[in-house]
Amino acid sequence: MKVLKFGGSSVANAENIEKVKNIVANASKGEKAIVVVSAFGGVTDLLVKASLLAAAQDEAYKNVLQEIEEKHISTAQALIEINNQSKVISNVKRELNVLETLLEGAFLIGETTPKLLDKIVGFGEQLSSFIINEYFLKEGLDSVHKDSKTLIKTNDNFGKAAVDYKTTNELCENYFGTVSYQVIVAPGFVASSAKGDSTTLGRGGSDYTAAIYAAAINAKTLEIWTDVSGMYTANPKLVKQAFAIPHISYEEAMELSHFGAKVLYPPTIQPVLSKGISIHIKNTFAPEEEGTLITKNTNGKERAVRGISHVESISLISLEGSGMVGIPGISKRFFEVLSQAKVSVVFITQASSEHSICIGVASEDAEKAKSALEMAFEYEMTLKKINPVVVENNLAIVALVGDNMKSHQGLSGRMFSALGKNNVNIRAIAQGASERNISAVINKNDVKKALNTLHEQFFEDNVKQLNLFVMGVGNVGEKFLAQIEKQRKFLKKQLKLNIRVVALSNSRKMVFNDNGLDLKNWKEQLENGEETGLDKFFSKVKELNLRNSIFVDNTANEAVSNTYASYLNDSISVVTCNKIAASSPYKNYVHLKELSRKYNAPFLFETNVGAGLPIIDTLKNLIASGDKITKIQAVLSGSLNFVFNNFNDSTNFDEVVKQAQEEGYTEPDPKIDLSGIDVMRKILILARESGNELDIEQIENDSFLPQESLDTDNVEDFYKTLVKHKEHFDGIYKAAADKDCRLKYVAQFENGKAKVGLQHIPKDHPFYNLEGSDNIVLFFTERYVKQPLIIKGAGAGADVTASGIFADIIRIGNF
Ligand code: ADP
Ligand code: ASP
Ligand code: MG
Repeated sequence: MKVLKFGGSSVANAENIEKVKNIVANASKGEKAIVVVSAFGGVTDLLVKASLLAAAQDEAYKNVLQEIEEKHISTAQALIEINNQSKVISNVKRELNVLETLLEGAFLIGETTPKLLDKIVGFGEQLSSFIINEYFLKEGLDSVHKDSKTLIKTNDNFGKAAVDYKTTNELCENYFGTVSYQVIVAPGFVASSAKGDSTTLGRGGSDYTAAIYAAAINAKTLEIWTDVSGMYTANPKLVKQAFAIPHISYEEAMELSHFGAKVLYPPTIQPVLSKGISIHIKNTFAPEEEGTLITKNTNGKERAVRGISHVESISLISLEGSGMVGIPGISKRFFEVLSQAKVSVVFITQASSEHSICIGVASEDAEKAKSALEMAFEYEMTLKKINPVVVENNLAIVALVGDNMKSHQGLSGRMFSALGKNNVNIRAIAQGASERNISAVINKNDVKKALNTLHEQFFEDNVKQLNLFVMGVGNVGEKFLAQIEKQRKFLKKQLKLNIRVVALSNSRKMVFNDNGLDLKNWKEQLENGEETGLDKFFSKVKELNLRNSIFVDNTANEAVSNTYASYLNDSISVVTCNKIAASSPYKNYVHLKELSRKYNAPFLFETNVGAGLPIIDTLKNLIASGDKITKIQAVLSGSLNFVFNNFNDSTNFDEVVKQAQEEGYTEPDPKIDLSGIDVMRKILILARESGNELDIEQIENDSFLPQESLDTDNVEDFYKTLVKHKEHFDGIYKAAADKDCRLKYVAQFENGKAKVGLQHIPKDHPFYNLEGSDNIVLFFTERYVKQPLIIKGAGAGADVTASGIFADIIRIGNF
């Protein structure tokens, strides 16, 4: 004999029940099958709702009852052909009338007792099993209906009654041992007390009913048919990457279900465990899939962590005080009080000083627990030996589960550092002595992020998901998105990085998609997006609360750079090509660096100097390895280099500048480049990154521009002055050419001082042959004394800047 149980969604409507029939027909071919069914999907909740409304004397209970009626009658009509319908429907109606009378009773007296409630909520299974059996008969199965109340006997703890196994097993053996039908359809969840009152086995209890039958008759297997393909590595509704665990031990399944894996009602395992009956979890909607097999032993070589589960709505209750130290019996009293108050303790920690005990309970029990404890310890509290009970709400538990965790070191370290990196605050920790479970109490809002972070850490072959929030889709931004789109597959395969752009914004619009935007048509999506704003954008990023979040600033905007601190504060990394923050007042630069360290969120701006060239990264590596920078000499302006490489006695200065601007080598306002401000910012950043405290005002800038050009306040006027002062610029060229030198705009840092300015560079100097918009940096250090470390290459342009931003993101991925 075997036992099959079908859950609420498996029997939610006629179409699904047909699937159930096919599975049962197949399974009962060679042997008898006990089929345990839940109420039609959602019906138990409706019954609870109707009872509560009736007890509150709210007439709306009648609408709920109406809904329940319609659901059953329409399903029966769809399943059973017209000429046989009347008998079935009248039976269903008779039952519904009894239900109506009970609800009316509750309405009139304005109360439901637990006893009445059990009578009422049992109707769901009563009706579903009756209708399903009638349908099986019509479909030609050799089937019979058997009421579980006549087989499963319990005490009268209504709502979650305890089974009297001795009587139950006898009744089951007698009945199933003699029954001649091939299929026996029985309601799950319901039972009866010794006095004959209806009881129930607790919400989700139909699984348990099936296990009780399986154990009583020594069934070969117990099959739990549900709406997912097994017990997953994490709740598949919250973790998209979760997958079904093929094989798992009873203890692991028990821990996972106890800690929230709803797919199996926790008490289900107990009866079958002692008999060694395997449980097979299968999907009614994909019967071909393997599902999960639960047995005594698994062949141990798999992963240490088998699954991750969570319990929502937890409260922490702590009892603290000097009077608790070394006094025997405090813990005993503490737990006795809770047990008398019928509060179940999900989680316990006690500091070894015995100064405090902290427990986790279901939030709905928190107030009850608090008042029971305050009453019990009132005396100690008045003496101030024990402090008032502290309750913290809105928490949740996440737990790692696995039989083999005990033989692996470092798992809890990995668990907590993964959570820490993602700014998930851990309120309390517990590890069972069996080491089958490590649990952490966290904020409820962080559950989804925590589960996904842990799943990534322990199950996803180390593929790390990076979630990008991109601001600015101009020249650089556009190239950047194109590069990501092109490299996504490669990065996933080779570097195990799954890069997703979750949000985009320009100055007008923003668009978010927490599954990652499709980059093929991002322009269209952005156009159809909602109105943007810096605060609005930040709030949405924060609200999504995704792991490994990175804010990418592709703008040159000061207001955007002022938002970095908020991101870093929330452990969101910042990658930017915008130089404003790193060259802002020293105090602000240091503050951002500190936030980055404190919240473990990288703040990277490699592209601030030399676009995609690895200048800052090299500098950091030199310093990290113990070297000291003695001097930096550099040509850091791709734009100025372009200008002075193209300016000679046959070109006009203003035209060359225009060309540089048109080809995208200058800032939108070319004066920022020509006045030297841009180069000042860059040398300032390099000096700071080498460990020096410096501000922009301290940099000497020997400008080659006439004062009139410097004084302009718009681009057009600026160009006019370049035309007007043609002779001045021609003179600059001639002075250099006469000495056989070239003009280079050089930045220098030495002995704590920085300066920028145009210089005459002779033929034998490394700067002489610098082409196009190239940059070059010479680092003289304690190790590179005579021959500097040189970095040279294209230092401007959207493509190389975009790839520099990309490189920063990959650095974070490998962080
Ligand atoms: P049934 O009505 O068939 O008894 P339940 O709703 O009680 O089904 O249980 C199945 C649901 O359990 C799934 O749809 C899923 O949302 C949830 N669930 C939570 N954790 C897990 C997990 N680790 N593996 C599979 N399902 C899980
Ligand atoms: N119908 C009951 C419930 O929803 C029992 C079950 O489906 O397992 O809790
Ligand atoms: Mg269930």
